[in-house]
Amino acid sequence: MHLSPIVQAIVEPATLLMARRSRELRAQGRDVIDLSLGEPDHDPPAFALEAAHEALRGPWHKYPPVNGFLDVRQAIAHKFERDNGLEYTADQIVVSTGAKQSIMNVVMSLCGPGDEVVIPAPYWVSYSEQVRLAGGTPVLVTSTLEEDWKPPVERIAAAITPRTRLLMFSSPCNPSGSVLSRKELEQLAEVVARHPELYVIADEIYEHIVFDGKHESFGNLPGMAERTITVNGLSKAFALTGWRVGYIGAPLWIAQACMKVQGQFTSGTNSIAQRVAKACVEADPALLTGMRGDFLRRRDLMVEAVRRIPGWKCNVPQGAFYLLPDVRSSIDGKTIKGSVDLSLYLLDTANVSLVEGRSFGAEGTLRISYATSDAKLTEAMERVAKAVAQLQGA
Ligand code: PMP
Repeated sequence: MHLSPIVQAIVEPATLLMARRSRELRAQGRDVIDLSLGEPDHDPPAFALEAAHEALRGPWHKYPPVNGFLDVRQAIAHKFERDNGLEYTADQIVVSTGAKQSIMNVVMSLCGPGDEVVIPAPYWVSYSEQVRLAGGTPVLVTSTLEEDWKPPVERIAAAITPRTRLLMFSSPCNPSGSVLSRKELEQLAEVVARHPELYVIADEIYEHIVFDGKHESFGNLPGMAERTITVNGLSKAFALTGWRVGYIGAPLWIAQACMKVQGQFTSGTNSIAQRVAKACVEADPALLTGMRGDFLRRRDLMVEAVRRIPGWKCNVPQGAFYLLPDVRSSIDGKTIKGSVDLSLYLLDTANVSLVEGRSFGAEGTLRISYATSDAKLTEAMERVAKAVAQLQGA
């Protein structure tokens, strides 16, 4: 049983691992509340499902082009201009099987053995493992809750070496919900401008879930279009996680490289899903405000519930649908040695599935996804509070 060194070096995503465990426990009859997956509980918009029905009746059953149907890429280019002030031609767009594949394509295209990728932490679990899969080295730049989980720009600048090929981040951020302001992005752009060989993956998959102010795109800052790969997809904004569509806008040479990589892995994205993608990116973003309102209400409910737990600390995230509380007060170094132990304890004792923060580059935290009903969230937090009290009383 010989596994390649690369596979031995990577881990299963902590998010998927916890979701798998909850499913297994549920199958055994346990009443598990799963707050581990980054998956909106909303139904997809009716127009998206209509587009799927329509596509089934159309001529969409054969291999699609590797980078996506031309009219879908044109619609995405138009979306980037309309929502983000980004100018891409259709050739600069690549449609993939989820934003996860979009990011992997870019990492594979730009990074190999000896290359470094700077990742401000906390970060989305897959970034570091995707870099390792490509043979590169992730360089994590840590931050604290007091810093709103945003590493100061000088700390990021200090991590850049002549071997750094990429800087990658999400804003709004999974797992912290933090949102980078235009000012913070401008400071980052100044750093990037000083390193001509450095490229940036701006993961904007949560762009529509911002509670205060507005989402800003890194790629439309002066001089950054040539240096930025903008990632987006259908999973979060349209609650279409299962359809698996992501896309990038990138400098042409990078888009072409991604197409080459994807041509060897999966070829074109599912054709019916691409037709759905066209309908989604053409839809008026104003249609998404209902979902945002739900998440805002739940954020407030959850921040309050977390802060009621003695010792747990939490900031007020500005976007996405996650909280990343500092739970070090519940880690005693003996029975509960770290956030992994704590998440397993809570799953076992409270039947609530949360993801340990270590995998996101923030040991001593837990990631809570609040993309589920208010009733389930309330019940989950009551159970968690009780289990934590038991722990502290023990
Ligand atoms: N980026 C971030 C920050 C995410 O949270 C996710 C999904 N959890 C993705 C990318 C991948 O999304 P997709 O479902 O389109 O692969």
